[in-house]
Amino acid sequence: SSKKKVCIVGSGNWGSAIAKIIGANAARLDSFDDRVTMYVYEEMIDGKKLTEIINETHENVKYLPGHKLPPNVVAVPDVIDAAKDADILVFVVPHQFITRLCSQLLGKIKSDAVGLSLIKGFDRAEGGGIDLISHIITRNLKIPMTVLMGANLAGEVAEEKFCETTIGCKDKVLGPLLHALLQTPNFRVSVVDDVDAVEICGALKNIVACGAGFVDGLGLGDNTKAAVIRLGLMEMVKFTELFYPGAKSSTFFESCGVADLITTCYGGRNRKVSEAFVKTGKSIKDLEDEMLNGQKLQGPFTADEVNYMLKNKNMEAQFPLFTAVHKICIGEVKPQQFIDAIREHPDHK
Ligand code: NAD
Ligand code: 13P
Ligand code: CA
Repeated sequence: SSKKKVCIVGSGNWGSAIAKIIGANAARLDSFDDRVTMYVYEEMIDGKKLTEIINETHENVKYLPGHKLPPNVVAVPDVIDAAKDADILVFVVPHQFITRLCSQLLGKIKSDAVGLSLIKGFDRAEGGGIDLISHIITRNLKIPMTVLMGANLAGEVAEEKFCETTIGCKDKVLGPLLHALLQTPNFRVSVVDDVDAVEICGALKNIVACGAGFVDGLGLGDNTKAAVIRLGLMEMVKFTELFYPGAKSSTFFESCGVADLITTCYGGRNRKVSEAFVKTGKSIKDLEDEMLNGQKLQGPFTADEVNYMLKNKNMEAQFPLFTAVHKICIGEVKPQQFIDAIREHPDHK
């Protein structure tokens, strides 16, 4: 049939929340096959497989407890089984796992499949730079990629509280199809063609969110946090202009830009763990394990990857906030020195 089959590659906190939306829309709309597969990284919960729990109770009891997934969303433990018939692949795993998943999927998916990445992060590239996750997927799987990023804390989306999101897609036929698959009365989708900038915003804001968490941990107050958010935004813009020239400034005013930055700096996991990092003195890794029950932080990794590139290009001083967040996360600089690192920001001229 001509109905599009959808596979969600990932089933964490955000993967499960978006499965509620995609599952309901795929069932409701004629253009999509009702059955949506969801690749679930298998694990045992109280002696039972998570995939079995999800398929019997329609709840991801570990990563999105308290919310029912639509019954047409089917959990599949083998990523190839989940993805092989799909026309649309929605990638939503923590970014550290994407390369390995691509190598498993290579040659096993439909040649005319298209991808939508919800993954916020970068990876290191050969030659001292970084790669966008969507570019990695395209290169590895030979499929065209689009992205979805926005002010979308998963728990609030799952609760169906009103919010907005941004899809980056250049294709004039695919854009409306993805819009239909994702939009609901409480999840409002804008499609823009500035695909790389949408993704870069989504990745970089997690670094700023760590800075916001340090401010909270240090008890510095709302004005300081607003300054960190603003300086972080300035570095996001500068980074995009320098390394991905041609991006539109309007993209920073979409949900993927300033709105996602704000929500993550108030309600996100990166903020929360970074605050605890200052207050407890424990390592980020230990706190992630203790506080997030298997969910993953993207900010400290992204700060590391961005620093890898800035350091190689001898440009750390032009991005003092990104640089300080990285050095604090790895224990090279004390959180108490965070403000000193941005006091003489190049933007204060
Ligand atoms: P998560 O943080 O809940 O991560 C846990 C997931 O990782 C689980 O599905 C787990 O099974 C999986 N996992 C663990 N080890 C694995 C392995 N070795 N291989 C493959 N998978 C493994 O995940 P999430 O919240 O769905 O985040 C996915 C992406 O979405 C991230 O890039 C994140 O930044 C982004 N995002 C998250 C939110 C949110 O509020 N949670 C909102 C917007 C975007
Ligand atoms: P955290 O990963 O910091 O929770 O941010 C979630 C997010 O990306 C909201 O849009
Ligand atoms: Ca349908």
